[in-house]
Amino acid sequence: MVALQQRLTDALANIVGAQNVLAQPEARTRYASDQYWYAIAAAAAGQPISRPDVAVLPTTPEQIGAILRLANELGVPVTPWGGGSGVQGAANVDQGGIVLDLRKLNRVRGIDHKSLTCVVEAGKNCRDFEAELNAIGLTFTHYPASTEWATIGGSIAARGSGVLSTKYGKIEDHVLNIEFVTPTGELVHTPSVPRHAVGPELTQLLVGAEGTLGIITAATVKLRALPQKRVFGAYSFASLSEGIEAGRRIMVSGLRPPVMRLYDEHAASHSLARAVDIPLSEPTLVLMFDGEYPDLVDLEAKIAFDLCHDHKGKVLPAQLGETWWEKRYVFYYPPYAPELPSIWGTVDVVADFQHIEEVYHATTRAVRESIDPKWNLQLNTHFSHWYEWGSMIYARMKVPTGPDNLQEAKALHDEIFRAGIEAAMAAGAVMNDHHGVGLRLEPFMEAQYGEAGLQALSSIKRALDPNNILCPGKLGL
Ligand SMILES: Cc1cc2nc3c(=O)[nH]c(=O)nc-3n(C[C@H](O)[C@H](O)[C@H](O)COP(=O)(O)OP(=O)(O)OC[C@H]3O[C@@H](n4cnc5c(N)ncnc54)[C@H](O)[C@@H]3O)c2cc1C
Repeated sequence: MVALQQRLTDALANIVGAQNVLAQPEARTRYASDQYWYAIAAAAAGQPISRPDVAVLPTTPEQIGAILRLANELGVPVTPWGGGSGVQGAANVDQGGIVLDLRKLNRVRGIDHKSLTCVVEAGKNCRDFEAELNAIGLTFTHYPASTEWATIGGSIAARGSGVLSTKYGKIEDHVLNIEFVTPTGELVHTPSVPRHAVGPELTQLLVGAEGTLGIITAATVKLRALPQKRVFGAYSFASLSEGIEAGRRIMVSGLRPPVMRLYDEHAASHSLARAVDIPLSEPTLVLMFDGEYPDLVDLEAKIAFDLCHDHKGKVLPAQLGETWWEKRYVFYYPPYAPELPSIWGTVDVVADFQHIEEVYHATTRAVRESIDPKWNLQLNTHFSHWYEWGSMIYARMKVPTGPDNLQEAKALHDEIFRAGIEAAMAAGAVMNDHHGVGLRLEPFMEAQYGEAGLQALSSIKRALDPNNILCPGKLGL
């Protein structure tokens, strides 16, 4: 075993240079957990679920090809690691082997100012990328709340979303094509544009694959000019139904607010009110419109505000929206974001307008009823990303102090998720909108896809990765 470890470390050093190989116990601690509650709790208890034998930081796609060929030769698992900010546990190295840290593959290869596109390497940090673009008047319009840590590749691999998604789309809408390395080490470039009729969309096969089907090394992504104007609005509604209906009418009428967030009364009074420092007790909708042409922005906002009035929305100070925008990331940091010894997590599910209200009621009811009241579960829910056909709910749960015993705490966590996810799916939802599957939702993959559907995905995995090197067991494949 020691001989294999040494052979692996030496061979990796030959590929990437000894300075880019971490074989000391430090490798285990640096990659001991991503941001999945159980991974954090297990690492804190000295029992990390993420246990890489060695970390390697390649700087070119060719090096990644060589690393994967070596891993196949030696039969060693490989797990890609972007910013380690995933909340479902996908990046944890639960089978040991190599952790492939992509953060040194972080160049902007070039910007096409005519098409407004950019080729960016996968390990580029989202915040750094946005800052570099802003400096030249451009924006990527993918603003995850984890922008400080998340990478472009990790966002694509986890099928992420940002706060502006309702107008500009999820990450899959930003990506024109990708460069990736197959599990057996070959470099692939997918067709240069996403709209074509030359067979299935290979780019999208890798989007959301959570590292199981290949390593994304670069992507061509859509850029935009920074907006010239932003208009904010905020409304409270007598019932959540009225708020959902106002949101639905805005979306089906073709209006495109980059931000449209509907908070239920719990999230409005406990979380939103605290952040914006305005007392709120009813379901609350925060809207933002933006664009290059101020008149058009004003007109879009006016039509949307009229629709809110149609549903008896009560006008709240527009300053609420502006404060929300300035503080949009605070919800994800202490004191808003939970810390140990709490148990926390988000059931973020997506459905069409026909089902979304029932999904909300069924999911929140099931989560509340899944746990003994003595644990004082808190549940704040909002509808954060909207589509022209539906919306998603972001049901954020917290148990302030769970059981001391790690396995008992995990059992409590798992039961809350089982209840929430099963109720959501039974009411017509898809079990995740933008956080991905990871270790947390892997047990539900067959329920989501059906036996034949999961078999089809597993067949693709076997064909691309015959030695099951990349992220073995993940996604239930
Ligand atoms: C405070 C906070 C706020 C968050 N807010 C948001 C949000 O607003 N929107 C959102 O979508 N998510 C959010 N997340 C979740 C998380 O940040 C996203 O899932 C993000 O996309 C993960 O990116 P990462 O680079 O950290 O990937 P990682 O967590 O490192 O990896 C995610 C998955 O992708 C794989 N992977 C990573 N890089 C590659 C690659 N180059 N090729 C192939 N596979 C790869 C990993 O193996 C893993 O399976 C948040 C998380 C936190 C902690």
